[in-house]
Amino acid sequence: MKTTEARKLLGVGRDTTPQAIKKAFRHLAMIWHPDRNPAPEAHEMFARLSAACDLLLEPFEQETPHADDINSPAANEKKSTGADRNQDIELDIEQLCLGGKAEAVIESVVECAECAGRGYQEHGHSQLCTHCQGSGKVRRGKNLIRCENCDGRGYSRRIRCPQCYGSGHQVARRVLTVTIPPGVLPGDELRLEGEGHAPASGKGRPGDLRLRIQLRPHPLYTLDGSDIVLERPVSIFVLLGGGSISIPSPGGPRKLDIEPGPASVRELDVPGAGIPARSKRAVGKLRVRLVPVSPSSPTPALIKLYRALQAEIVRAGTDTLPELAAWEHRWLPESKRDQN
Ligand SMILES: [Zn+2]
Ligand SMILES: [Zn+2]
Repeated sequence: MKTTEARKLLGVGRDTTPQAIKKAFRHLAMIWHPDRNPAPEAHEMFARLSAACDLLLEPFEQETPHADDINSPAANEKKSTGADRNQDIELDIEQLCLGGKAEAVIESVVECAECAGRGYQEHGHSQLCTHCQGSGKVRRGKNLIRCENCDGRGYSRRIRCPQCYGSGHQVARRVLTVTIPPGVLPGDELRLEGEGHAPASGKGRPGDLRLRIQLRPHPLYTLDGSDIVLERPVSIFVLLGGGSISIPSPGGPRKLDIEPGPASVRELDVPGAGIPARSKRAVGKLRVRLVPVSPSSPTPALIKLYRALQAEIVRAGTDTLPELAAWEHRWLPESKRDQN
């Protein structure tokens, strides 16, 4: 493979750094690694990306020890810090409120353990080349080109490493347990020192892991800034007569007192029951939207009570339902009015 072709494949420029090459490779490897990509061309593509990465890193790797010798230790330490790794972590609203532990899966491209990153395994004697099936040529797009594995001979002592599909790289998965402090919000970032990418030179400190918080959708709660919003059905009689009802909250159920009032949608706040305060942010509210519901199939006893209730409303006079009294006053003669 030529250098220009390798650069084109990884999408990097001429004056690029080893960090940028590795970053470009890692990005493409996550797309093309055959463990992740079922497309038939993924094997070939991943092997080519891997070869391109190795080719472009070669001159850098030769220069690195020399650079280490001449630089001061402090400057050198700064230079050999790996790149930060940016990743999302999805949390439940309960975790935002209460904090706790969460797991983050870290995927990284590492050297294949089976072939020590070579991409092939060596046999004692020559065998039919596994790349080109003995033809000495492999297809690339519309063209047939010389097989790199056997130098076009058709026979080779090398067989393609089955573990990494000849790429010399594998995708390693690592599960990190992360401590979530109470009061974080979507878009906040948690920084885990030293859990980022290894430095391109292989020496020095790894970068940091920056976990950006995302909210996992919840069937009951939504978030509005630091406020938690929930909707709760409530009997019209509780809205009319007042009372105390239970409401769920991410920290556990609590009581909500309702004043007597109209049986229409009502919004009540519970101050301090939203997302807890953190750094410069104040604690949020729990905003409860009460949606009135009325009995769907009342019993005869209930119907009797409704009628008694209505009679009492009429007896109490026009102040109880002023809109109704005004309407009847306008449209019915006095003798036919219900609200007297
Ligand atoms: Zn391998
Ligand atoms: Zn071959």
